[in-house]
Amino acid sequence: MSEFNAIIVDKDAETGKTNAELRQISVADLPEGDVTVAVDYSTVNYKDGLCIGPGGGLVRNYPHVPGIDFAGTVESSNDPRYKAGDKVVLTGWRVGEAHWGGYAQKARVKADWLVPLPAGLTTRQAMAVGTAGFTAMLAVMALEDHGIKAGPVLVTGAAGGVGSVATAILANLGHEVAAVTGRPETADYLTGLGASQIVAREELNETVKRPLEAETWGGCVDAVGGEMLARALGQMQYGASVAAVGLAGGAGLPATVIPFLLRGVNLLGIDSVMQPYDNRLRAWERIAKDLPMDKLEAMIQPAVLSDLPQLGRDILKGQVKGRVVVDVNA
Ligand code: NDP
Repeated sequence: MSEFNAIIVDKDAETGKTNAELRQISVADLPEGDVTVAVDYSTVNYKDGLCIGPGGGLVRNYPHVPGIDFAGTVESSNDPRYKAGDKVVLTGWRVGEAHWGGYAQKARVKADWLVPLPAGLTTRQAMAVGTAGFTAMLAVMALEDHGIKAGPVLVTGAAGGVGSVATAILANLGHEVAAVTGRPETADYLTGLGASQIVAREELNETVKRPLEAETWGGCVDAVGGEMLARALGQMQYGASVAAVGLAGGAGLPATVIPFLLRGVNLLGIDSVMQPYDNRLRAWERIAKDLPMDKLEAMIQPAVLSDLPQLGRDILKGQVKGRVVVDVNA
């Protein structure tokens, strides 16, 4: 394969407008790196929506191949840790933002950024998990480190990527999950993933009126931020923790310090991008063990490279359900 398919985001020097389109590129075009990977699958995360949408979002150099995660097979390697034929997964390290990413049939990256595909997962399953699911696992692990209290665990943005995987993992670990969604039509889907309670987004989205409400949640994975996070903080049980993952509902935080002072609530920030190798490996091993594969299958929305410009717009509008898995070779 001398030339291969890639989604290229480019910026018009005069208008400053960006455009994403399917093009042919060759290995010589790829950025420097230790390992060349034949990509099997990539995914659509919220950040990808920002990178392929108008304005270019987080893209740091043009032309650019977006795609913040991928799984595939090593084609060649200058690093002794990897050899041709090894199956690998990549999330984070600003790939798809500052370094060309997974929306291409080949990628060349630093060996440090990869992890070996965990036993028990296919490359397709690994990307059904992808950055969103990997982050959901990091969030669950952070809650566990601080102790999950008895009672329901709140998951916000539940029908999205992070929320879907967090719901399935927590339920599989035996926790009662209260899934917050703005899409009532996803109730059956969320119940199927293991949620025992569906909470309407409006119930948690009002401006915080009282800094403390009834002690309700034993933990929380929050993908939404903004008012919803502020409201959740005031509803946590004494000493419970909130793993803050995202800002799909806004970057502001109209909260008070009262839940921290009077209820000992912990606010745990989750960053998937700069996770050291050992943490990444530990999280992927937990995913292979604690995420039921039939539930993961129920989250998958299949896609091909040419679908990406539209899917980028959809995810920014909160219209994607579960996990989009992009077969880059289809
Ligand atoms: P998705 O778009 O798949 O999911 C986000 C969900 O949030 C939506 O599906 C929707 O859920 C809900 N939502 C969207 N807009 C609003 C709104 N205005 N008010 C309330 N709820 C809203 O994105 P991901 O799951 O991939 O990512 C979620 C967030 O996590 C993003 O901000 C992303 O950038 C961040 N993230 C952070 C990472 C990290 O390392 N910290 C890694 C990965 C993601 P529903 O329809 O059920 O209400």
